[in-house]
This record gives sequence, structure tokens and C-alpha cells, in this order.
Amino acid sequence: MRVNITLACTECGERNYHSVKNKRNNPERLELKKYCPRDQQMTVHRETK
Ligand SMILES: [Zn+2]
Repeated sequence: MRVNITLACTECGERNYHSVKNKRNNPERLELKKYCPRDQQMTVHRETK
């Protein structure tokens, strides 16, 4: 049930993080606040394909 995902910044679209999520626990798209090096601040990162 664990799948690889990419987390992209919602501000600039940069794909900054790779992660693994459990599809059963998180069937929806993940949204996490993470540091974006391009924006140089914490931004919301959303799961992309
Ligand atoms: Zn960004």
C-alpha cells in the first residue's frame, strides 16, 4: 500500500521533495508545509504524479 510521491511547491511549482505515503491512510493528495529553496521560505507542497 506504500507508494512513492513527489511533493511540489504550490508557489513556484518546484518539485523539492520525494516521499512515501500509505495509500490507505492518505487516499487524498497530501499537502505539507515545507521549506522551498527557490522561494527561501516555508510554502505548501502538494503531492503530484
Ligand atoms: Zn517554491
